Formats: sequence, C-alpha cells, structure tokens
Amino acid sequence: MKLVQLNKGREKTVINRHPWIFSGAIKNIPEEISSGQIIQVVDNQNQLLGYGFFSKESQISVRVFEFTHLPISIDENYWWNKWEKIWNFKKSLLNKETNAFRFIHAEGDQMPGLIVDIYNHTAVIQTLTAGTYQLLPLLQKFLYSRNIFNHYEKSDTKVLKKEGITPRKGWLTEKINDIWFQENGISFYCDVEEGQKTGFFLDQKNNRALVGSLSKNKIVANIFAYSGGFSLYALKNHAKKVISVDSSQRAIHILEKNIEKNFGKLTNHVSVVADAFEWLKNMPENEIDLVILDPPAFAKHQSAVGQAYRGYKEINLQAIKKIISGGYLFTYSCSQVIGLELFRKILFDAACDANRPVRILQILGQSEDHASSLFHLEGDYLKGFWLQIE
Ligand code: SAH
Repeated sequence: MKLVQLNKGREKTVINRHPWIFSGAIKNIPEEISSGQIIQVVDNQNQLLGYGFFSKESQISVRVFEFTHLPISIDENYWWNKWEKIWNFKKSLLNKETNAFRFIHAEGDQMPGLIVDIYNHTAVIQTLTAGTYQLLPLLQKFLYSRNIFNHYEKSDTKVLKKEGITPRKGWLTEKINDIWFQENGISFYCDVEEGQKTGFFLDQKNNRALVGSLSKNKIVANIFAYSGGFSLYALKNHAKKVISVDSSQRAIHILEKNIEKNFGKLTNHVSVVADAFEWLKNMPENEIDLVILDPPAFAKHQSAVGQAYRGYKEINLQAIKKIISGGYLFTYSCSQVIGLELFRKILFDAACDANRPVRILQILGQSEDHASSLFHLEGDYLKGFWLQIE
C-alpha cells in the first residue's frame, strides 16, 4: 500500500480526527498513484496516522476513513464490519412506524464520499469520489444481505469528473416505479429519479414530528413545501387548515399524491404553485398560526453569502411581520456556509425590522441519522429555529 507523508506539523488535524487532508499538507505524493487508491497516511517521522482514499485532482487530496496508529488490513471484511456496525446503529434509532433513514452519512459515519439513503426496500446511493465508487459491488452485496433489493445510483455531481469518473445516475437493479415508504406512520412517495437530494428530505424528520405535535387546530403555512413533509404531519395531527407553497409543479403533484394516499380527499388543505417570495409578500396578516420556512440552500459557496443573507432576511421578515400574535415560526437554513451564528444574526435583523418581540424556543438541527462528526464542523449544515412571535 502506498504511503502519503505529511509535512511537519500538519499531522495535528489528522490526530484530531479531521478527515480532510489538503494538498498543501502533503510532503510527497507517491509516483503512479491514481484517484481512488487507498493509502496509508504517515507523519513526518513515518508514524502511521490512518487510512484514506486518495484524490489526484481535488483540493482535498486524502479523505481519511480510519484513524489508527496500528496497521490493519483494509479488505472486504473491514468494509463489511464497518457497514454492519453503522447499519445496526442507524436501525436502532428507528421506531416501528419508520422504514426510511440515512444509512451512510459520509464523514459523519467515517465513510467520506458515500451517501446511502434507505426507503423501504430501496437504496439510493451517491458515490462522490473514485474511492467509494470502487466499493459499489461490495456495498450492493451488503444491501442485499439486509433485504434492500432495489439500488438506484445518483452519482451525478460534476466533481466526479475530477476523479476521472463520468457522473451518472440510474438503476443498478431492475427499475422500480412506485417507491413508497413510512415515516412515523405516514406514507410518502419517494421521487428517486427526478426528486431533490435522494428523493426526499430525511434530515427534517424530527422537525416534522415537532411541527406535527404543535399543529392541532392551527392554521399552518408550509413554505418551500416540496413533497409535503411538514404538511402531512400537520394534517395528521388535526391542523385546522394547511397551505403548502412550492414553485415546483412536480413537487406539488407528489404532495397531493401523498395526501390522497394518507387521507383521501381533504377540504382543509390548499396547495399553491408559486414563488415563495411573492407569496410571503402577499401573506395575509394576523391569520396564520404556524409558518415553516425551509428553503433550498441560498448559498452554496462563500461568494454567495451576501445574496443569501438578503434572501433569508426577506422571507423571515415577511413571516415575522404577519404571523398571528403568539404564533410560531419554524425557520431553517441548509446552507453549509451560513453558520448558526450568522443565521441567528439574520433572524435578529429581520425581527428588528418587523419590530416584534421574538422568543427562541428551541435551536434545531438535522435528524440523528444525519449526525455529523464532532471533529468535522463542515458536516453541520442544517440549522433551524423554533421561534414564538408576540
Ligand atoms: N421542506 C421540505 C424540503 C424543502 S426543499 C421537506 O421537508 O421535504 C426546497 C423546496 O423549495 C423545493 O421543493 C423547491 O422546489 C422549492 N423552491 C425553491 N425555490 C423556490 C421559490 N423561490 N419559491 C417557492 N419554492 C421554491
């Protein structure tokens, strides 16, 4: 196995279990190494620090998946045992009424470059590096052993090109048309092929349950509703009325399919295909009890933070201004580059402009199957606030 030696002093982050090693930290790169190769990471004194996947073109040259001072064999058994442990842990987090979860959450599960979401008997797999791409056949074998028979690959990110792999998506097993799963006893359709992320936003599970528990007899507006996650929970918990807003006709169509499947025809739900900014501008004042704002990432890079600030501020300002006195706002940002403190500052600025008292009832994050590593701050992307507006 090839060795990647680090410059003096650059071993610290690896000792602290940060999985990324940037090219500047590396003393010498072995000859004839290719992207995806598994390498040993050693410090300046040749002391073993761990094992990682090598990437030739990416700024992140090594993604460490095992931190150890003792040599071990990275063979099929290694991966199998690792996945088994993750599988058992993730399954232990589920209740009987839920059969969808994030099995592998990349760095959060010490499996950088790999995401696997399970929807009932279907897995949606994202291999984001050459390193994890080569594990696909073994991963499929593992999934079969857990009764996950349908495998869809969604590795369509452009960064793969840098690893010498053509981005691709498609069924690895026979095509399946209708994928339904249960989350807390609610049935959802998963738009595996055309949907966002792996087809559904599993990371909001706990937040949906919380909103559900507060929805009884309330008028709820679910803005950026996608396939209706929050709306379905509110309806199940006897909301007086639910309004779901999304700019995507396809998302709203699936949302209505979800409602039909769970409740049949309803008279207390309204879906609106509209731009959220427009809808919020015209949102009725003093009528809506509970608003959910769960927009897509407004900033994917540092350079977009200024524009994202204005976007987040605008939607939150409108909601804070118009929500009923004593009402709740659930507001989220999934932009990794907008940290919790900055998001809080944006909400502060919006509330100042709205000139209303606001309480922070709870700070919210991603569900536990999306847990990040304490050593990898970059893994915390979803942040939210449960606010009460007086
Ligand atoms: N809350 C959802 C996930 C939201 S994803 C859940 O729990 O499942 C973000 C959604 O915002 C997508 O469905 C996308 O179609 C929608 N969207 C993006 N820009 C929008 C805009 N300007 N107005 C309304 N909806 C928008």
